[in-house]
Amino acid sequence: MTEKIVAIADSVTVGELATTLNLPVTTLIGELFKNGIAATINQRLDFETASIIVEELGLEVTLKKKEATVGHTRVEHTLSERAVPRPPIVAVMGHVDHGKTSLLDAILGNKTAAGEAGGITQHISAYQTRHNERMITLLDTPGHEAFAALRQHGAVLTDVVIIVVAADDGVKPQTVEAIRFARSANAKIVVAINKIDKDTANPQLVKTQLASEHGLNPEEWGGDTVMVEVSAKTGQNLDKLLDMVLLVADMEDLRADEDVPAEGLVIEAHMETGRGAVVGLLVEHGQLKPAYYLVAGTAYGRVRTMSDFRGQTMKMAGPSTPVNVTGFKELPQFGDSFRLAKNEKEARHLAQAARLEQEKMAASTNVTSSDILKMMSQQHDAESFNVLVKADVQGSLTSVIDSLKLIDTGGLVDLHVIGSGVGNISENDIHLAVGENTVIYGFNVDLPPAVKRLAAREHVEVRLYRVIYELLDNARQSMEALLAPEVVETEVGQLRVKGVFRTVREEVIAGGEMMTGKVYKGLLARLKRGDEHIAEVEVSSVQRQHQEAKEVFEGEMCGLSLKTTRKVVVEEGDTLEFFTRELVKKTL
Ligand code: GDP
Repeated sequence: MTEKIVAIADSVTVGELATTLNLPVTTLIGELFKNGIAATINQRLDFETASIIVEELGLEVTLKKKEATVGHTRVEHTLSERAVPRPPIVAVMGHVDHGKTSLLDAILGNKTAAGEAGGITQHISAYQTRHNERMITLLDTPGHEAFAALRQHGAVLTDVVIIVVAADDGVKPQTVEAIRFARSANAKIVVAINKIDKDTANPQLVKTQLASEHGLNPEEWGGDTVMVEVSAKTGQNLDKLLDMVLLVADMEDLRADEDVPAEGLVIEAHMETGRGAVVGLLVEHGQLKPAYYLVAGTAYGRVRTMSDFRGQTMKMAGPSTPVNVTGFKELPQFGDSFRLAKNEKEARHLAQAARLEQEKMAASTNVTSSDILKMMSQQHDAESFNVLVKADVQGSLTSVIDSLKLIDTGGLVDLHVIGSGVGNISENDIHLAVGENTVIYGFNVDLPPAVKRLAAREHVEVRLYRVIYELLDNARQSMEALLAPEVVETEVGQLRVKGVFRTVREEVIAGGEMMTGKVYKGLLARLKRGDEHIAEVEVSSVQRQHQEAKEVFEGEMCGLSLKTTRKVVVEEGDTLEFFTRELVKKTL
């Protein structure tokens, strides 16, 4: 089959993409959902995300970029002739436990893992290291969702991806995900085959897997993928790994403008007591200095303090440099671009303009995520219950998630774990959990006050538990609540119409003989002529021998007053089937 090539803009909405691909929008949203992105029809996807989704759907389609358009989130920077070389931005990715954190620790010579407790963080941590008198910027991306979020804003910020594969474990699902990410982001790949100090290490097998199944051919076999066998534990070959990263980056001629107003991306943002908004920025062009006025989306402020990843004060940050700044008046969004403003007035003005724009967009969004979820559930005939789970330690996190998945709903409710991690509920968790039918469960963790306020603002529900059974009970009840009540109709009796006495606008008075069962006031009735269903009516009174009767039984004659919603003609010979209708709450 030949592949179709479809051109799309740098960023498209879910709806536009569905139209372009001639797919039901629900299919697209469902696929995004599976990838941890709770998108609405108006949500913008960047080119890479769109490409991944198309690939995941197994469509015979290749997406191609249309001529660049000015997206509302980001204006592409055009390099000037004065652009200078900049440090490469390197993401370290790979399967859990393959040694990403250990490798970063070994490269940086410190403990970055402190406080992370083996968990999944939802933000991007950025570091820098000097190698051969050159700087390398390293991004730690434990949660791939974090990258997905950045990419939604049209930002592709990685030049090189180090894919860490444990030599004793081989290629695993997140390894494959990392390879796909690197390719879709157009980043160069360097494979670090880690843990070669172990007896069970089998680097050759890893290479074979990568070459035969994923098209990554090692240089030593005549391919063009750089693979370095390393040990984060002993430090073996780490220098060589960094040499290779620089070598691969040099093929790209990475440059940035220094003499322009600073601009870049928000890569992390959280509130800290006493410091206010602490915001991680990655400078892309220009130089950022303290006292500068900044705008990022709807947030603005003046740089009060600026420090590097070790917390050391900085006086200036140039291209490819990650910095932490304080001074924002509110939290900017993770993934927003930032730029400078001349003064407070301009900064405030730009932030307000962004807010207005956002409100306008929100107002024009006529399809909300709840509609989409309804559409999805109708299509799949099952409701979705989305949870994001946080726990104090990895062990309890795993058991909470496993137990949640074991709640049997007989296929009536789909439980999606849209995120998980160890540690207190964070602002990023809240951002991830915005949307209908989504709940954050915290097990033995806290909800810091600033995060609580954000949750309230974003209407995100956070439920904290210390006892696992209570948590599971709550989840079960929530899932039951999602089930639409079942409509149960019970047949009560049948009457053959023998005469029609009066037909006014919304009332018919008729008489007949009870064939089966009984009839009483308040019953509903299907009016049938042969097999044809004519109308549904309600019994508003029952008479036996011109007397009001409570009930009339099989074999008896009676007169009925029937309430209708429109003019209904009843004829002799018609049948009335009496029934009750109840809404019965479904339980799991
Ligand atoms: P991550 O989940 O990818 O960040 O993996 P970690 O860095 O947390 O490492 C997972 C486990 O593998 C830890 O117990 C590390 O001590 C261990 N580990 C990491 N690198 C090496 C290595 O080079 N050699 C050996 N023997 N163990 C390693």
